[in-house]
Amino acid sequence: VKLIRNVKEMQELALHLKKENKSIAFVPTMGYLHEGHQTLLRKGRKENDILVLSIFVNPLQFGPNEDLDRYPRDEVHDMKVAEQEQVDIVFIPSVQEMYPKASSILLQVTERTNVLCGRSREGHFEGVVTVLTKLFHLVMPDRVYMGLKDAQQVAVVEGLINDLNFPLDLVPVPTVRESDGLARSSRNVYLSNEEREKAKYIYAALKHGMELVNKGEKEKEKIVNEVIQFINSRTRGKIDYVELLTFPTLESVDQVDQTVILATAVKFERARLIDNVIFDQTGELVYSS
Ligand code: AMP
Repeated sequence: VKLIRNVKEMQELALHLKKENKSIAFVPTMGYLHEGHQTLLRKGRKENDILVLSIFVNPLQFGPNEDLDRYPRDEVHDMKVAEQEQVDIVFIPSVQEMYPKASSILLQVTERTNVLCGRSREGHFEGVVTVLTKLFHLVMPDRVYMGLKDAQQVAVVEGLINDLNFPLDLVPVPTVRESDGLARSSRNVYLSNEEREKAKYIYAALKHGMELVNKGEKEKEKIVNEVIQFINSRTRGKIDYVELLTFPTLESVDQVDQTVILATAVKFERARLIDNVIFDQTGELVYSS
């Protein structure tokens, strides 16, 4: 594994690899790697010549009251995982390296952002598209692998790639879960034992909503209300949102008559967890592993 911390060095190596006609897979992360990240890495490894992993906790995508300062980090563990997954290049730039001065350009996300996490996390997706634009120029990937656990991120980045003509494919990867159904997340370490035990009900609630559709219920209002009740009656988490929208366009619907996303964010004492299911009008999952 080659570790690069310098922006210029990363870009020069990418240019060199492109000249040699190597296909480059890219998995951007914030580190503290788990099985979810590893699934993206394995897919990238299989489908490309070169595999690049980036680890960067991007300050731009955190709000003032969010967990930037205590976001979990473990570079030694992450390098071991990288080795295990046969990553060729690990790119770990510092904040200074990525943002040496105040930016003279600001990107604005105008669609797919005033819903779900975009509504409660002001400026979050602007931070995401800004860092990804920079990373895409540094790594020059042919394929970028991103998890559907962050489905709104996939939808927004799809817009970024299309609108700004990035010459790369986005490959969405189904959410990787613990055995009880909880979506794997670096933030799961913030949960108390009791919260961790109850956190499985988030996915159970979403599946319950999907099963309602499978049984013939098409009304959004009813489905959303059942999911809210399911979570409220089984956990002490505070619901940030439960929403049902079209996917990937993230527009509102009254009836499930096309592919939709049923998504939620739930706040526990020290962690805000998100999860979603994406299914068609018959209540069948659209992406599955
Ligand atoms: P993060 O380090 O949380 O920014 O995540 C980096 C990438 O890994 C993103 O594309 C995430 O969507 C993806 N990812 C995180 N958790 C999971 C998971 N449980 N299943 C699949 N992908 C995931």
